[in-house]
Amino acid sequence: MTLHSHKGLMFILDGLGDRPVPELRGRTPLEAARTPCMDALLTRGMGGLMDPLSPGVPVDTHTGTALLTGVCLKDARFLRRGPIEAAGAGVAMRNGDVAVRCNFATVEKGGDQFLIKNRRAGRLGEREVAELAMSLQQIDLGDGIYGSVHPATQHRAILHLTGPGLSADITDSDPMSGVSLRIQKVRAHDPHNIRAVATAEAVNRFLGIACARLPDHPFNVARRKAGGLEANGIICRGAGEILVLDNLLHHLNIKAAIITGDCTIVGLGRLLRHTVHTSSGFTALADTDIKAKIQMAIDALDRHELVFIHLKGPDICSHDLNPRGKMEFLERFDQALTAVPADDLVIGITGDHSSDSNQGDHCGDPVPSLLSSPGGRRDLCREYGETACCQGGLGRISANSFLISMLDAMGCLHNYQAGDSKYYPI
Ligand SMILES: [Zn+2]
Repeated sequence: MTLHSHKGLMFILDGLGDRPVPELRGRTPLEAARTPCMDALLTRGMGGLMDPLSPGVPVDTHTGTALLTGVCLKDARFLRRGPIEAAGAGVAMRNGDVAVRCNFATVEKGGDQFLIKNRRAGRLGEREVAELAMSLQQIDLGDGIYGSVHPATQHRAILHLTGPGLSADITDSDPMSGVSLRIQKVRAHDPHNIRAVATAEAVNRFLGIACARLPDHPFNVARRKAGGLEANGIICRGAGEILVLDNLLHHLNIKAAIITGDCTIVGLGRLLRHTVHTSSGFTALADTDIKAKIQMAIDALDRHELVFIHLKGPDICSHDLNPRGKMEFLERFDQALTAVPADDLVIGITGDHSSDSNQGDHCGDPVPSLLSSPGGRRDLCREYGETACCQGGLGRISANSFLISMLDAMGCLHNYQAGDSKYYPI
């Protein structure tokens, strides 16, 4: 079927890297976890430290994953979350539309401003978010612009704007960090950009309408009665227009599949034109069905040269300040990994970024990574973890280079020319 000598399996463990945690006696969750299967893969392969974008720079999931799945550095820097989430939720965007990533949140009015009390309105189920979104359809925002909300994973949603003269060159209403809890007014990045100014005004109008309408929604009335957190506001970020992404794997004529339960990664996979496999048992949480994911990946290898498996669990645990949960997830993952027929496969294990379980957020530390291939080089790393990987033969490697190293081990780079230099590390 092919010139390729081996097929490849890349595990993207979301937020894999971490920092030493006092409750784990100064070890990281990966170092504290019992992982005999990954240790064996490392022993017959090489370890290293992977920088998604640039050393020390924290990145979002979509950026780190895009770089590992074939998007070059230059394009990945400008990816916006809105259209990726929209693709994941199956929202059909046309040229000129704008998509903005949203959270349903608990907000409180303070003077003429809104303060965020809970960024996720507690935790919302997808059915609840779908009900809330139903009340925010085809909202007339003036000048022929309309806004509709579509549900995504958990508390997340997408605001889809249609109409003439839109621009995605606008700021976020989401203050993101804990420094300010005030919802920000959305503005044009360039006040001379008339289209962006009009779009920012439309988004602000929409957010005002949502805050006025949501408290009366039956879901919120019931939550108020029960003393729970209301989903009475929306915060948004990552506005973007429709994306057409170049991809190294298409360029090399390599068929790839992505296995994931996360709406963002589903969207990214669709935009990259990889085969996307998902299932209701893939929760994008720590309780996901790891074994079923691995089995689906093994099946997908029949029809694809390279299969990516994305697991969100480690990052969720870090955001929840739960390093022990992250350690236990990695142990469950390691047990499930025994089902992989490793002898004839090129296997890469890495993450889209590191996440600090002490702070509950992404950090710019490099990701401990391993590459194991039949007949491939070995190094002296034995126990998979942040410290051991400092000594590894892969050295300090970029996300693009990690993918390219896998492809080389698979024997896929026959058509790789010097002209492909945008994929060389910078
Ligand atoms: Zn991530």
